Amino acid sequence: MDGQGHGRWVDLADGVYARRHADLDLTTGLVLGTERALVIDTRGDDGQGAELAAAVRAVTPLPLLVVITHAHFDHCFGTSAFPGAPVHAQAGCAAALTVTAAAQRAEWVRHYRAAGDATTADALAATVPVAPDVGVCPRPGSVHTLDLGGRTVELVHPGPAHTGHDLVAHVPDVGVLFAGDLLENGAPPSFGPDAYPRDWAGAVALLLARGANTYVPGHGDPMTPHEAAAQHAELAGIARRWRRCGEDRRR
Ligand SMILES: [Zn+2]
Repeated sequence: MDGQGHGRWVDLADGVYARRHADLDLTTGLVLGTERALVIDTRGDDGQGAELAAAVRAVTPLPLLVVITHAHFDHCFGTSAFPGAPVHAQAGCAAALTVTAAAQRAEWVRHYRAAGDATTADALAATVPVAPDVGVCPRPGSVHTLDLGGRTVELVHPGPAHTGHDLVAHVPDVGVLFAGDLLENGAPPSFGPDAYPRDWAGAVALLLARGANTYVPGHGDPMTPHEAAAQHAELAGIARRWRRCGEDRRR
């Protein structure tokens, strides 16, 4: 595994995999049915997407569907590597990507150059992200079901949290839930300017209520329900402090 390319598959259940990537400790997903396979997130540039697509093709020849968990570059700038695959995202994701793509690219090209990683900086600078073309789950709590053949995957928008357009993918028959950046293992949840600190814990509570056995974060190793619950408690504490700050400001 290295920063440019190679990742490794983690076997989570029959036909359900996480893929771990060194760059940003990113975690993507792959779910196999009998007729179709679902790729969850596409990595951060054209080249990284191509590496992921080749790794997927080494596992399965099935027609692909793609789900984007949210419009942050590291999760979706690699979508060009999956031509012809319907790309699902929460209804607000495409607009968020259109509005923020150039600024995200500029910020992270600077980041990679400052870190001495010219290869990744150049690859990102040359990438024009492909927008998702199937908007789903317009309201908090709404569910969109994908039929992969012999297996369904439920896409859920748990409400505003890490962004206003987060989408998670639950594979109920094996109890695996791909949570995007609503959960992060090995790092505190990442609060960008587009995050909803007051609402985030409630969204994670909705994921916990689904009773999965394995929660796959957007960064880091798959988590147990206990670890996911601990992160929920941390987020609830942040929300309480945030509310107190708001009350202070109103005085
Ligand atoms: Zn993110």
